[in-house]
Amino acid sequence: DKITDKINALSKDADYFSLEFFPPKTQMGFANLQNRLERMATALRPLFVTVTWGAGGSTASKSLELAEICQRQLNLTTCLHLTCTNMSRKLIDEALEQAKALGIRNILALRGDPPRSEEYREGGQAEKVEADNDSNKEFVWAIDLVRYIRKQYGDYFCIGVAAYPEGHSDQSHPEHQDPNFDLPYLVEKTKAGADFIMTQLFFDVHAYEHFEEMLRNHSSGVFKTIPIIPGLMPIQSYQILRRTTKLSHASLPPDMLARLDKVKGDDEAVKSVGVDIISEIIEAIRRRDSTGRRGFHFYTLNLEKAVAHVVERCQLIPPSTPDKDVEEAITLDDIAP
Ligand code: FAD
Repeated sequence: DKITDKINALSKDADYFSLEFFPPKTQMGFANLQNRLERMATALRPLFVTVTWGAGGSTASKSLELAEICQRQLNLTTCLHLTCTNMSRKLIDEALEQAKALGIRNILALRGDPPRSEEYREGGQAEKVEADNDSNKEFVWAIDLVRYIRKQYGDYFCIGVAAYPEGHSDQSHPEHQDPNFDLPYLVEKTKAGADFIMTQLFFDVHAYEHFEEMLRNHSSGVFKTIPIIPGLMPIQSYQILRRTTKLSHASLPPDMLARLDKVKGDDEAVKSVGVDIISEIIEAIRRRDSTGRRGFHFYTLNLEKAVAHVVERCQLIPPSTPDKDVEEAITLDDIAP
């Protein structure tokens, strides 16, 4: 199913959520994740799930394997992330063909991060990276992938694109970490054929609200009705939080940091304050916007408990369909004691 069709089919006052997973490295990891996914699918009932793609195609076969489990075996509406820098056109074609063959109708079209400068210094590696770059001037920005998918597949895929409420931090222009800098490119990327927008994680709800308002009121009109799905990362531990906020350049408002700092030696307490914080962000966004069909995307890091607590607290779990016997057997209690 296409994500936008599923959103449009919701009743006007129904909110929804989606979950992101990344492909594990080992078969044991896959087996564990598959069990977890089964529990989450039946107990939490996300509108869709997304599967990440390693930049340059580094996880291509594993991402497709996980996407197959989600779409085919678990019957979850699946969105495959796909990056385009440092990817040959052949690899992009193969990924899209395989996604189509699996029945996947949704692609999150991304640029991917260019290789870090250290990688250029490592002798042979440097040559390889440069060679790949040379052969692939066709895909420089995410918009190139959006255009390519539309050209090759018409309307077959529902296409999502990324946006950054606090600005995209790029090594090539770190001085431009400002949503206003990205805006003209986001307009073009959306015009090129995006069906929905999904954001980088954030904790500063005011920054998000300001960003969404800027998009909705943009004079081009391209953001008037397109679904804009805020990305949220449930807090798994103090260390993971500090690391991911640093990597994503998401700011942590001082009052939130103070609440977490107070309990930082106690993992369970950090998780519990984290559930409070993420739930408060969701409620704040809902309060401001009463247009309905409001979505939330969760960066799960493949973990189930924190996100289960959040979606339960915020009453984002849709009612189960009565004709599915298994759903009766698996409840939220199986995930979240
Ligand atoms: P773009 O839209 O191309 O934008 C990148 C930057 O370039 C922005 O600063 C933009 O303003 C600027 N820009 C765009 N066009 C131009 C132009 N013509 N001239 C000058 N500047 C321009 N990465 C992965 O590797 N795998 C994943 O699975 C993955 N999933 C993600 C999911 C989400 C929801 C998000 C928000 C990010 C994800 N990323 C992932 C990270 C993403 O690949 C990086 O942030 C990447 O650096 C930018 O990708 P983009 O699609 O936003 O690029």
